[in-house]
Amino acid sequence: MTTNQTKGKKKQEPAAERPGTAAARPGRSGGPSPLFAYAPAPESRTVVDIAPSYGLFVDGEFTEAADGRVFKTVSPATEEVLSEVARAGAADVDRAVGAARRAFPAWSALPGAERAKYLFRIARIIQERSRELAVLETLDNGKPIRETRDADLPLVAAHFFYYAGWADKLRHAGFGPEPRPLGVAGQVIPWNFPLLMLAWKVAPALATGNTVVLKPAETTPLSALFFADVCRQAGLPRGVVNILPGYGDTGAALVAHPDVDKVAFTGSTAVGKEIARTVAGTRKKLTLELGGKGANIVFDDAPVDQAVEGIVGGIFFNQGQVCCAGSRLLVQESIADELLASLKRRLTTLRLGDPLDKNTDIGAINSAEQLARITALAETGEAEGAERWTAPCDLPSSGYWFAPTLFTNVTQAHTVARDEIFGPVLSVLTFRTPDEAVAKANNSQYGLSAGVWTEKGSRILAVANKLRAGVVWSNTFNKFDPTSPFGGYKESGFGREGGRHGLEAYLDV
Ligand code: NAD
Ligand code: MG
Repeated sequence: MTTNQTKGKKKQEPAAERPGTAAARPGRSGGPSPLFAYAPAPESRTVVDIAPSYGLFVDGEFTEAADGRVFKTVSPATEEVLSEVARAGAADVDRAVGAARRAFPAWSALPGAERAKYLFRIARIIQERSRELAVLETLDNGKPIRETRDADLPLVAAHFFYYAGWADKLRHAGFGPEPRPLGVAGQVIPWNFPLLMLAWKVAPALATGNTVVLKPAETTPLSALFFADVCRQAGLPRGVVNILPGYGDTGAALVAHPDVDKVAFTGSTAVGKEIARTVAGTRKKLTLELGGKGANIVFDDAPVDQAVEGIVGGIFFNQGQVCCAGSRLLVQESIADELLASLKRRLTTLRLGDPLDKNTDIGAINSAEQLARITALAETGEAEGAERWTAPCDLPSSGYWFAPTLFTNVTQAHTVARDEIFGPVLSVLTFRTPDEAVAKANNSQYGLSAGVWTEKGSRILAVANKLRAGVVWSNTFNKFDPTSPFGGYKESGFGREGGRHGLEAYLDV
């Protein structure tokens, strides 16, 4: 086995001669090309001012936790402590839900056009502060600045703009003549897209007239706390949005609070099941967005170079910590060798390292726990007999890192073909006929996403119709748009976020 995933292990060659490092990269023209060094291109850290400590955001004010507890959030790329954050307990949940309840009558009674003004204002402030928020998110999460700057932040703003547009058109959304909000929404989000998951939850809730108590993930609380400041800047009435940083116990207390009318959760399937049990038998409305094991299906007539880019984006975007990642590659047997050779060649050009460097493709894994989970699952893959290949690259000596990894000789029974790894690990399987591709793709406890690569439009439609997945991309992958609904089947959860469908989860219909 390779030792690449082990923290701090280094290879011997000089940096300028190694592919795939921040110091070297092959040229773009075909054939063997000279390697050349890239100078570091760091985004400035000074555009964001992180305070040494933050409170909870309740009823329009930052306050300490009732029991005074705090926790630290670190930069996963360096393990540097970024800030100390108040940790909400049950008493704080009660206080925040009370504030949201008191804010609800006035907020829900506002004409839609008035609520829209606040949402448009929030969207514009996010755009104005996008560089600051992108750097902040990269520091707290470990994902590359290229992604926070070009994907997360533009999508966050787009989500608020989109739902601002719905706020005064709810009567025409197909949910009856007088659709009513539910009340107080308790929302729990994960660490993989901290601000984007907040936007997916908060924007439709506010547009429909609900008030919100949101718990960000324990490893990435900072962008939600900066969002609290955005709400203040936008003049949002107090209590409409409340932010409670904390761990799983805070989330559990929020979900169980008797005065919460709606629960929205994104995260692991195990926690999703626990929440479903808590909410069962109550009047609370529930949406769950859970794990996935997306199949990316490549037929023999697909353009190989484009497919390779789609495969790389499908599984290595955000270090593979994406619920809809294309983590199972299903490739038609006749082109498997050619495609794998291209894919490995492409993977040796990925640059892993400082997430704040504008040339970095692969950043840090979000936490030591997540790195341990990925490492253990990859070891299971080897132990069960799949063949492991790791892209040649050095890993920095501090922080949490895992090199891009492929498994071949994978069968459907292998753990790496079944379990969500939530890391930069791709399992490769082959198929011979379209029916076999569909059967293998659907052979999963999950059903969140899939991809189909072929030149034939009729085949795209025929295969997509048979795939039991909430989202099917054709000749592309991991494309997001606020107008498009997103959500799963089976153990990937239920309910849809985004688009007109995303309003339904927050309306009494
Ligand atoms: P998690 O489900 O434990 O955490 C997600 C959020 O839920 C966090 O805010 C967490 O504090 C909160 N939470 C934890 N326990 C809770 C409880 N009992 N009640 C209410 N809220 C609770 O996810 P994780 O531990 O960060 O990651 C574990 C695995 O989950 C990953 O390896 C990955 O497979 C999966 N995951 C999926 C997504 C997704 O987008 N679908 C996101 C993150 C993690
Ligand atoms: Mg952090």
